Amino acid sequence: MQIYKVGGAVRDRLLGKPVTDIDWVVVGASTEEMLAKGYRPVGADFPVFLHPKSGEEYALARTERKSGRGYGGFTFHASPEVTLEEDLIRRDLTINAMAEDDHGQLTDPYHGQRDLEARLLRHVSPAFTEDPLRVLRVARFAARYAGLGFTVAPETLELMRQLSESGELEALTAERSWKEISRALMEDQPQVFIQVLRDCGALKVLIPEIEALFGVPQPEAHHPEIDSGVHTLSVLEQAALHKQPLTVRWACLLHDLGKGLTPESQWPQHIAHEHKGLKLIKAVNERFKAPRDCQELALLVGEYHTHGHRALELRPSTLLELLQSFDVYRRPQRFEEFINACEMDARGRKGLEQRSYPQADYLRGAATAARTVVVQPLLEQGFKGPELGEALKRERLKALKAYKEAASA
Ligand code: ATP
Ligand code: MG
Repeated sequence: MQIYKVGGAVRDRLLGKPVTDIDWVVVGASTEEMLAKGYRPVGADFPVFLHPKSGEEYALARTERKSGRGYGGFTFHASPEVTLEEDLIRRDLTINAMAEDDHGQLTDPYHGQRDLEARLLRHVSPAFTEDPLRVLRVARFAARYAGLGFTVAPETLELMRQLSESGELEALTAERSWKEISRALMEDQPQVFIQVLRDCGALKVLIPEIEALFGVPQPEAHHPEIDSGVHTLSVLEQAALHKQPLTVRWACLLHDLGKGLTPESQWPQHIAHEHKGLKLIKAVNERFKAPRDCQELALLVGEYHTHGHRALELRPSTLLELLQSFDVYRRPQRFEEFINACEMDARGRKGLEQRSYPQADYLRGAATAARTVVVQPLLEQGFKGPELGEALKRERLKALKAYKEAASA
């Protein structure tokens, strides 16, 4: 049997990028031989094994054939006769279809190296269209390598367009889609992920609520970029530049969905878009079964981001309501993420990326002020039950009034 390094490990070494996980392909071996050597099978009918010591993935060389709709609709053929070239041709991109033996000798039948140099994400064969997940994968690689100058080859974008129009994207499960989306959002340029999905017509299938933002104007005085979709991409870009976590990036992506619902007659104003957007945010959250913390933050940022921007003008009672809505006493981190999402929203405006955002520290200070109110003295005064709650609120309001006065002095 011969063993080769394949996929991302080869690609990233040639790009001079750090290699984290290594995938291996085994040619000329049978399942029985692998088991005899102590490899542990990963799936029941899927020819992938874990190395007895390193735990890395070793896949038997295989061919694939489409046999139905969606990701499950594949039949695999793995046998000792399958060649390396036959295994590589089933892969998605040429830059992912190179193999390297233990002498560092490269096998590159589909010209991955040429495409690395040309900075092109190009499909290996027309069988690309057999797996809709590849639309998301290619968009994700585009987000990851945009900084190096990579773009999607026009022929590949065309295949992605065909896949998007075929209805196959709908066959993806929430779990598989979310895995790609969440990884893509954590790349260096997540806005490129959304842009590529849009370019190939996948965005209007997967997240039509975001597609709907393009072409919707906002008031130029506050939003020099005007277009709501362009704004959303910039907010996401800022979130990545500022190294925000997934929760914040997800919230940034969805914060303005309500603007897509505004009747044209009201443009460029978007009255109550925060509240109107909530049902859309909920729908997108549920479509991809986003994790709970992502779902929650997206809804809260959707509802309250304008409060964040107006923080310095808010009455103490409104500030208090905001803090209560976030349960800032028990969930300080979530409020901090809200503040950061608001700041990314403010920075995601053309020409205003560097403008300071004093609202952030003001909100942090307000949270601290409200949190300094302690329960113990109130208990000692004999408050309990709902009355205790009311007394706490009164004290916090007092603290916030003092805070606001001190801040404006
Ligand atoms: P990463 O750095 O994200 O791990 P990777 O290229 O190693 O990138 P993996 O998901 O680990 O990606 O997959 C390993 C290899 O398997 C890929 O390089 C590609 O050759 C192939 N591959 C994975 N998923 C698909 C797919 N859906 N269609 C075709 N080929 C795929
Ligand atoms: Mg990998």
